[in-house]
Order: sequence, then C-alpha cells, then structure tokens
Amino acid sequence: MSPDLAPPSVTESAFVRGFHDRSLRYARTVPRWPAGEAPTGEELLAALFRFPVLLSVTCADVESVVGQDTLVFAANLLARMFPIVVFDIPEAALVAVRPISSIASPSVSGYVLDLARSICPFGDFRLLGSTGETASLADLVVGQGGNRRQSMGPFRVHATGRGWRALTGVGLPYRNVQESGNSLGGLVSAAFAAMEVYKAFLRNVAARRYGKRLPPNLAVDLEPVAAFSLSLLDYDRDLTGSDGPDLPPRIDLGRVLVISAGAMANSAIYGLRVLGRVFASGHVVEPKLLDGPDLNRYVLMLATDLGKLKGPALAERALPSLRLEAANTSYQESATRWRVSSVDLALVGVDHPPSRIAVQRDNPRLIVNAASEGRMAYVSRHSLKDSGSPCLECFNEYAQEAERAAAEPIATLASTSAIAGLLQASEVIKAAVPLSRAYRLRTQLEVNTLRPDLQYGVRMGLMVPRANCHCQSGSERA
Ligand SMILES: [Zn+2]
Repeated sequence: MSPDLAPPSVTESAFVRGFHDRSLRYARTVPRWPAGEAPTGEELLAALFRFPVLLSVTCADVESVVGQDTLVFAANLLARMFPIVVFDIPEAALVAVRPISSIASPSVSGYVLDLARSICPFGDFRLLGSTGETASLADLVVGQGGNRRQSMGPFRVHATGRGWRALTGVGLPYRNVQESGNSLGGLVSAAFAAMEVYKAFLRNVAARRYGKRLPPNLAVDLEPVAAFSLSLLDYDRDLTGSDGPDLPPRIDLGRVLVISAGAMANSAIYGLRVLGRVFASGHVVEPKLLDGPDLNRYVLMLATDLGKLKGPALAERALPSLRLEAANTSYQESATRWRVSSVDLALVGVDHPPSRIAVQRDNPRLIVNAASEGRMAYVSRHSLKDSGSPCLECFNEYAQEAERAAAEPIATLASTSAIAGLLQASEVIKAAVPLSRAYRLRTQLEVNTLRPDLQYGVRMGLMVPRANCHCQSGSERA
C-alpha cells in the first residue's frame, strides 16, 4: 500500500457525507424536478451506493498517450462522483505524464486503481476479473471502436479526444484515435462523458419515481447526449470538423498568477500539467484548507491532502514544469497583488466576486477567468490591449449580493468545474502559442454542461462592456 492510500482519520460515514454533500445538492437542485418532488439527500446517497459504474478503454486507446490521459482523467472524475467503479483496462505500460507523480504503478490499470483508492479510500474500486462479468448500470468507454466485452451495462457513453476536439455521446459514429501531443480534447471529452454517467444515475433515480415517462423539464435535462463534438479552438460543434494544429514541443507561459487553488484551478493546472510541455513560474493565492466537499471535485487532490492548505498542495502537484509559490491569503491581502502588473497571465478561478473585481482593477495584462454556476461553465478572456471588450468587472455587477449568496454551500459537481477549468487551460494555451492565437476567445464562452448538444448549449460573446462599469469611465481608467 502506497502512503497515498492511508485512510483519512474520520469515520466512513462522516467522510462519505462530507465528500458527497455538494454533488447531492447539485442532484437535488440543478435538474428541474417538479416543485417539491426532488429526492432527499438521504435517498440520493443510498441510490448512489446502488449504482455501479464501469470504466473501460479500447485496445487501441490504452496504448496511446491521448487515450491514457482521457482514461486516467475519466477515472479521476468517476472515483469522486461514484462510490462503486469497476475498471476494464487491458494491460499496457503507462506512457502518459502521471498527473499525480506520487502514485508509482508502472501499468495503466495499476495507476488507475491506486488513483481511485487514493481519492476515496472508502470507495469500492476494482479491476474487472477474467470472467468479465459485471452488473454495471452505466459504462464510460474511452474510444469508440473494438470493444473487448460484449456484455455491457444498460447505458454506455463514449469519450474520445482528437487534438483540440472533444467527442462524447451515446451514439457516436466510429472514429479512430489520433495520436497527438494535445490531450485537451480527450480530457474535455472525459468530463462530458462523466456528466453523462451522472445523468444516467439521476435518470435511474427518477425512473423509480416516475416510471419511463419523466416530467417534461426533467426529461429534457436528463436526456442522454447522442453525439456531441466541441472544438476547443473555435468552439464549433461539427462532428466531422478539424482537429486543429498540433502543439509545439515547448510552451512557455512566463510569469503567472493563479488566483484561487479551487476546483477550476485544479482542473486547469491538471490540463496544463499533463501536456508535459507547458512551463511557467509564479504564484498561487489561496487562503483556505482542503475539506471533504472540496476533495469531491478537486482533481489534483487526494484524501491524504484533507486538512492541508490548498495553495501549497496545488503548487506541489503542479511541479515540475509549473513552478508556483503559494501565498496563503486572500487576493486582496496578498503581497502578490502589488506585483500583478508584472505578470504575463492571471488565471482567475476564485468563487468570490469581490476578489475578481480586485484583480481586474489591478489591471494585469491578460486575465483568463473561469466560473461555474449550476449547470453552466463559463470562461472569459480580458486583455488590457482590448479595451473594446468587457472587463471582468463588467460580469460582476451584483458582486455584493453574490457574496452573500455564496455563504450558502453551493450545489456543484466535479464534471462541471472540470469542464470550466479545462476550457480555461485551452484559452491559456491558445494565448501562448502563435499558431493558435487567432482562435483565442474575444469575450466570453458559456457551456450548458448538462445539455451541451442543445441549440444554445454552447454560446460565445454574449457580453458587451457594461456602461456603468469601472472600465468604461474614462476619468477613472489609468
Ligand atoms: Zn468593465
């Protein structure tokens, strides 16, 4: 047993309740259950322990770096979202970058199993035996062709990455894996597929109550995504669209300031880290300690990190290519604040609108911001050179109200913040690579992570500068 597998010093029941608290709030409040009919947290928690999930990978994908990155990220998310996961993984040596380097297993299946157990020590995680029998209720398959096993569960969703393109769905047309140096599409496809598995769980809960015909709004929210494709370059959703140019062997981000070591920062740093070619130095600003609900969606954190300061924990996992020094304080009180004009990039993922406004007023050269609320994931880009675009403060008019609302525990799910953080990482890469700079986001992108396939599931550039914003008043603008 590696040191990361040591169980945390809390009882199983206390751990499980804390761990799933925010996701159960999500399950009760984000899908549109008829008024007064949402299941209780107790019902949902019991149902979660009756919902075994299978994660499998095709033989071609388990050999490739992109396939392994997609698989390991899917395992990471599923181990946080579900207590029972069976892994069906052909023997292969791990060739991808280890997102958590303290887990030492040389094989893909060993790494995935140790990772899952290190995330949730009380989970029931195992490798599929030689009989190949499992009673899974939902399957996530990395890749699309050449399934090893005939007897799959009643629901199956595929996840595939092709360079900048993410492909997810229950009925995807077959496409070969494509080896490239860019796993971002694969990581995003894993997050959307994990969301589809969670929807399958919620459909299972709803079907016990309503039978086959779900109430109309709930039916829309939980309908499986048939075939969804998203280019992280220009956000087109064309299933047969281009995969985009490959990445250069080295990408230098210069001096960065990461504001918050929260769920989205974990996901963004994860995305940048596993590319194995992204270099940066700078600071991460975060005052808080890691708790159980955080662990449920912070993709670089393990159970042994509970109770630690989030900033230093993230800085440690970002090594060796991303060298961050942790400032264990809020942004407003941090010394890094006064050096913000010297950074090349401010990565903002802070769940605290007044901090976002403070960052914007300090005028960093480039802000890439990520946020999530309910089913929505947002990413926006704010450049000093682009004064015609809305600033971060334009988005945060009601910051004081939002701050009060944030005192309530938020309803959130690992897959949503994972998508927001990975979109943020994509924008960071685009800004730093000359060949893809033309594709950088002008203003804001919003994604309905429950139904990205709907007509308005992915929208761009809805925001314009707000007339009464600080950035639009000439006298105050430095
Ligand atoms: Zn503004």
